[in-house]
Amino acid sequence: LASKLPQVGTSIFTVMSQLAQQHGAINLSQGFPDFNCPPELIDRVSYYLQQGYNQYAPMAGVLPLREQISLKTELLYGSKPDPETEITITSGATEALYAALAAILHPHDEVIVLEPAYDSYVPAILLNGGRPVFVPLQVPSFTIDWNLVKAAITPRTRAIMLNSPHNPSGAILKSQDLQILAEITRDTAILVISDEVYEHMVYDNQPHQSMLTLPELASRSFVISSFGKTYHATGWKVAYCVAPPALTIEFRKVHQYLTFSTITPVQYALADFLTNRDHYLNLPDFYQRKRDLFCQLLQDTRFTFQPSTGTYFQLVSYENITSEKDQDFARRLTTDIGVAAIPISVFYQQQTDHGLLRFCFAKNEETLRAAAQKLQNL
Ligand code: PMP
Ligand code: GLN
Repeated sequence: LASKLPQVGTSIFTVMSQLAQQHGAINLSQGFPDFNCPPELIDRVSYYLQQGYNQYAPMAGVLPLREQISLKTELLYGSKPDPETEITITSGATEALYAALAAILHPHDEVIVLEPAYDSYVPAILLNGGRPVFVPLQVPSFTIDWNLVKAAITPRTRAIMLNSPHNPSGAILKSQDLQILAEITRDTAILVISDEVYEHMVYDNQPHQSMLTLPELASRSFVISSFGKTYHATGWKVAYCVAPPALTIEFRKVHQYLTFSTITPVQYALADFLTNRDHYLNLPDFYQRKRDLFCQLLQDTRFTFQPSTGTYFQLVSYENITSEKDQDFARRLTTDIGVAAIPISVFYQQQTDHGLLRFCFAKNEETLRAAAQKLQNL
């Protein structure tokens, strides 16, 4: 069989989590919390399971959940998407990203991808006949040089993929970035696929710059978020896509035949739980405390870093420790020191090694302290 994805191997998240398990290392690699989701939310899921909400959900998602998303969007970003025509529930943000690309790409269409990029983007573009056009983020700030983006635009450019807060760097977009994006896509057919799964993890009182805050950008965007991140339940794989009606129609055509619909009892439980705004409104504080603790602990190591501005990831440079390649160092850190991290070079198509690692700080205090103690031995 001729592979359609000859370059693709096992995801770094699987590789590093397995290595951590084999060596009994503390796993700060793959992004997931080591604490449970809110007990009230689990109670709601059990309730709906027991009440028999166990058959297919409507293709677009259960209406109460779409209504709650609409209200949340209005509260946070000032625009109120129509639950009927502009919101679709998907089985994870991974599905939503794929469905958006599959809905819009024709053979040889180009998609601008900022690197380092989350690992699912490029395979999803390639499988849909598209061509990724890479633009590097600026190092070490991981901000966007919009002149490079402008220079990458051609008549074949169908979409730009953005991710803020950004995995793996923890960088966030500023309002000026949105203004420039609006300008350079104005009067073009270029669409925006905006991966905002970490929308509630932005620190130091900065606002999250959602595409939904600017009507002009919202009118040409697929905005994707994930309940897995927000509710400490990455295993549930429930997410959503907000897009204007014409884009949602095309998006749902793909969703309808990719998964058709998403797990029913969890959708109802989330709809109930979203009526309580405290959880997501408190999330920046909750994670900022973890970031601050982790950064304080890292001060006693030889890693250097700028505190993360968003996501639950902290990027560190190990230039004072070793000149090893990042993948070799990440491996040795796991097997010999007992802490697993993600090397950043895997988020680039071409070999690009800045000597950086990503740690996930969505962990209990004891886990972060135990990891830091090991890292202090380097
Ligand atoms: N985008 C980014 C930037 C992510 O970090 C993740 C999760 N790690 C996803 C998408 C996928 O989210 P989900 O688990 O909801 O598919
Ligand atoms: N998004 C998670 C991360 O960045 C991993 C998800 C996965 O394992 N596919 O660590």
